[in-house]
Amino acid sequence: MGFRKLFLLLIAALVTTLFSSCNQGSEEVVAFTNVNLVPMTSERIIENQTVLVKGSKIIAIGDSDTLQIPENAKIIEGNGAYLMPGLADMHMHTRADWEDPEIWPVHPLYLYLANGVTTIRDFTPYGSPLDYALKWREEISEGIRVGPTIYASGKLLYASPLEDPEGTVQMNYELGFDFLKLYSYLSKDDFHHAVAAAKALDLYTSGHIPYSVGLEGVIAEGMDEIAHVEELLFEFIDFDRDRQLPPEEWIVYLIESFILQFDPSSSTLQTDFEMENLAMLAGITTRLRTAQVPVCTTMVVDDIIQLKLFHADAFLDRPENKFFESGYLEIFQRGEEKHQVQCRGVESICALKYGIDRWVLKSLHDAGILLLLGTDSGTGGMGIVPGYSIHDELRILVENGFSPYEALVTGTVNAAIVVERMTGDGDFGTIEVGKHADLILVRENPLEDLTTIKEPLGVMAMGRWYPKDLLDQMIQIPTLETSTQSIKTMELAQAIGYSSFRFSPP
Ligand SMILES: [Zn+2]
Repeated sequence: MGFRKLFLLLIAALVTTLFSSCNQGSEEVVAFTNVNLVPMTSERIIENQTVLVKGSKIIAIGDSDTLQIPENAKIIEGNGAYLMPGLADMHMHTRADWEDPEIWPVHPLYLYLANGVTTIRDFTPYGSPLDYALKWREEISEGIRVGPTIYASGKLLYASPLEDPEGTVQMNYELGFDFLKLYSYLSKDDFHHAVAAAKALDLYTSGHIPYSVGLEGVIAEGMDEIAHVEELLFEFIDFDRDRQLPPEEWIVYLIESFILQFDPSSSTLQTDFEMENLAMLAGITTRLRTAQVPVCTTMVVDDIIQLKLFHADAFLDRPENKFFESGYLEIFQRGEEKHQVQCRGVESICALKYGIDRWVLKSLHDAGILLLLGTDSGTGGMGIVPGYSIHDELRILVENGFSPYEALVTGTVNAAIVVERMTGDGDFGTIEVGKHADLILVRENPLEDLTTIKEPLGVMAMGRWYPKDLLDQMIQIPTLETSTQSIKTMELAQAIGYSSFRFSPP
């Protein structure tokens, strides 16, 4: 066994040990005392609160001076820190090879937790068996695996001709997946059959806007959600939707169509584009609002493309790059990375695309469309680091006119609304009695400065508390030295049993 594998096993053992000594699944009450509450039920802070958690639920909230704390409760002393709901990455992807420490130096499930992401929604698993993420979910719920709450789609409906759309939908449903994902290359006919089959099973649908179908068609068929803001971009391009092209030729055709329509050499291209398409954009937002169709943001993909293309040094300087899957940086250095290849020779169009996506995002926000915080993390190959990308996405929303509160709504309140539509249980996203105990303790007021969430003092996921020192331990990159350290920490943790549970922010 390699030392990295050994290290991973040790970390898993350590974390499980801590659980058994914590409140997991027990009837023990955990009390957060003297916290400033960020309930996310409205834009406000409630000072000096105590929050009681039992099992996976919040059972009481009240003034720290008056709320009774049960005698044997474990106390987490807040000392004026801020307690906010955990965040959801509503568009990401799991991979079966996350389990391989030779590929992923730290298990991405840990990276999400360490960044305050307590819910993830898997927009297509990579690897087999198809339902590995559902197994992970079960293990997390049983307390034998560490991670956020997982919602997942199963086998992707990718390109036509589909052999058996109804059969695939039925299989996904029977395996227990929460929603169906549809992709760009489906014909009108296949799209129709797949969505109809999902509707018959009451299975939620989200996805790209297939080029053959278009936004109007997607809404008419009743697809529940759009997977990216950038999907709306194709609405502005004149192209023949009835063309039958193999998947790899579509994007070339679309870029050609775009260049025919707009003059890429013009220095005022973006302004011209916006002026010409104002009415079209208004039509899009009206359609989405009328149909109440939510849209995932995933703006960080564009943002990182700009870094990779135009500020490679800044991209390479990011501290979270140490969590990249093995081989990624080498591919990037060789100039063979996905977006380097896709944008080669059309760099200015890639830059323009980000500009237009931002313009669309602002308009969706102004129109009150239900937006979902999502980062497309987890696939590897794009330079997006699981967990860490959530902070970039929040920053981008604020750069584009969202208040910090509005940005947080996309990853809390709105996420819960959509999970409710998807599964019937969206009891998270706010701090209220009866809601899941998915919480982040942060030093500063996040409604003033979202960057405080990058350094959580602790994270609670479904009632399990991960103090900062444990989170740090979980995401330590294994070296021979830290393996030994980890053994020591585990021995220490076992010795003290983490029994005091008392925690004061430094
Ligand atoms: Zn995706």
